[in-house]
Amino acid sequence: MRRCIAGIFALASLAAPCALAQTAPQWTPPDSATKQLALGIFRQLIEINTTDSVGSVTAASKAMQQRFLDAGFPASDIYLGGPNDRKENLVVRYRGTGAHPPILFIGHLDVVEARREDWTTDPFQFVEKDGFFYGRGTQDMKDCDAILVTTFLRLHKEGFHPDRDLILALTADEEGGKSNGVDWLLKNHPDLVHAAFAFNPDGGGVDLQNGKAITADVDASEKLYADYQLIVTNPGGHSSLPVPDNAIYHLADGLQRLQNYHFPFELNAITRAYFEKLSTMEQGQNDADMHAMLATPPDQAAIERLSANPEWNSVMHTTCVATRLLAGHANNALPQMAQANVNCRILPGHSREEVRQELIRVIADPKITVNYVDNEGEIHPSAPDAKALPPVALQPAVMQPLEKLVAVYWPGTPVVPDMAAGASDSVYTNAAGIPSYNWSAIELETNDVRAHGKDERLPEASFWKGVQFWYDYLRMITSG
Ligand SMILES: [Zn+2]
Repeated sequence: MRRCIAGIFALASLAAPCALAQTAPQWTPPDSATKQLALGIFRQLIEINTTDSVGSVTAASKAMQQRFLDAGFPASDIYLGGPNDRKENLVVRYRGTGAHPPILFIGHLDVVEARREDWTTDPFQFVEKDGFFYGRGTQDMKDCDAILVTTFLRLHKEGFHPDRDLILALTADEEGGKSNGVDWLLKNHPDLVHAAFAFNPDGGGVDLQNGKAITADVDASEKLYADYQLIVTNPGGHSSLPVPDNAIYHLADGLQRLQNYHFPFELNAITRAYFEKLSTMEQGQNDADMHAMLATPPDQAAIERLSANPEWNSVMHTTCVATRLLAGHANNALPQMAQANVNCRILPGHSREEVRQELIRVIADPKITVNYVDNEGEIHPSAPDAKALPPVALQPAVMQPLEKLVAVYWPGTPVVPDMAAGASDSVYTNAAGIPSYNWSAIELETNDVRAHGKDERLPEASFWKGVQFWYDYLRMITSG
């Protein structure tokens, strides 16, 4: 890929010719007062348990509400509410001139469960160690919640007057639970969150390899999330008299057929653009394979080699994987029941029911019933027919300033439109007609993604860069 470095400025837009990005500010770390503010918010959020099992999103919402009130935001511009007292969402409106329609920023406050015994440190203690911040939510996504709150407070303190309203919605139950906050706000208080477009930092960001930035991904498309229950029932009996018709064996054999199956290779406008840009960064076999895969017809051997990379595989295919298993009722009894959860991430253009039918075909055992499990955990004999939404258009008002700033923060790194393998709350905003861009400004080593995992952590440097990026970016896009 071509690079043009001129002093600190480097415009890496692959579409535009090399030029000085004269309007872009220089990247400098935040001042110490901002660092202190951001760190305090980050620590506070991490140390408020917001898991679905025992935590409270409301506690986190209220803590942030207090910060906005203390900073002088009018109470009438702050809304706190939700379907029950543990799942209250916070919506803050930062008033602008009204020259343009508002921009919405969404961030989920809830986190995935974390067990103390699995972790090296207490997941609900904010630990600074060896250049990292540790704690549940440091990657997903209390880092960006803290950054957005910090940015709003910082701009407000400086008396910055944006050319439109900025709306921040901090919400419940993205990771699980029955009270998704974005969905709830759109249904119950659409006026509070109505906007021309939205940013969701729950995805996108800068991929690092050995400290070097490879790509700056903006997710403009998402896969559709779906869970399926595979269940086998059987009369059972005494384990001293086994018979071939065994619920566990049926299920295990079916899962093995699923393991060996790959959903068809398929690209859309965004994922094709993704591989086209990526191929300019890759060399040797990967480069050749990407070209062979993008050719018509695509090369099957190249697809197979590239699919060995889990990230690329997820962009090229619908994926389904067994994630939970439950069977039997006693050590000395033949199992009367065996069940598995299969989690699928479905490419745009396909529906959950279509995938359920495909699972039935692949598993190929009438003894195994394939049910659909909805967001509330309810089991259904069939799945919804709605297809995953098409990709969002890449608006110049969003993309051009972003490319300029990325060139300053990560010189020479291409901004790559991407499709998220995981689903995010953007599924709700997109469906409500608010085009949503998943972009975090967080840089992370590709082999150190610990979201949902143990010892979740964020490099301190990544956090400070994110804090400063969002400040610069918000000023840029709302300065008229
Ligand atoms: Zn998340």
